[in-house]
Amino acid sequence: MSSTTQFPMSAKPCPSCGGESDCATGPDGATPEDGDISLCMYCGAVRAFMMNGHELLGYRVLTEDEIATLPADARLSVMRARSAYATFATRALEEYENDPPESLSQGVRILLEHARKIAPPSFTGKREEQVSLTDKVFAWRDLSPVLLRMPGSHLFYLPCFSSAEGLRGFFGQIGIGFDVIKKIEDGMEFMSSLDVHPHVTVILDPRITEEGRVRFIQIQPTVVS
Ligand SMILES: [Zn+2]
Repeated sequence: MSSTTQFPMSAKPCPSCGGESDCATGPDGATPEDGDISLCMYCGAVRAFMMNGHELLGYRVLTEDEIATLPADARLSVMRARSAYATFATRALEEYENDPPESLSQGVRILLEHARKIAPPSFTGKREEQVSLTDKVFAWRDLSPVLLRMPGSHLFYLPCFSSAEGLRGFFGQIGIGFDVIKKIEDGMEFMSSLDVHPHVTVILDPRITEEGRVRFIQIQPTVVS
């Protein structure tokens, strides 16, 4: 791994969260150039530097579509940075959640707010084995079901819902778009079609609690003969 260098910058607020950072970390003494990409250390937004020579004018937040069309090495860097951010944010949450210090800086407060949203899921109840997925619905986008990633887990989660309203509400809350809502005709068949994707876990009726945690019922794959 290459070493990193910190260099001071004029503080500019993140357009996504308003947090200000007055330094950036780059590989091997590199200084940012216009259009270079960075991750907000508070909210995890992926942003491009807007530079005038060496002067930082501000940031522009990249959309998921823009990130998806970045060159492969840049996309990999974004993935690594996001994963590092998730670890960092989760640790901060563990440290402060139950025992917040009197005075938290604005940046740390923003960080904790975002950390709660991406915190690894906690289970509400027992793992359900008897739930049928028949007639449940899921979101579909770009030729596949919409999958969610949770930090600290290598699994992809496929959220299913008892109702289309529940689905729309959840996706609206997490700000993820989809093309259509599909209905599961046969739950058993649906689960067995996922056998080829060992890292996909099906969850039912996820919801976001007031504390920003994601709660859901995890569907155990039933052995299909
Ligand atoms: Zn931010």
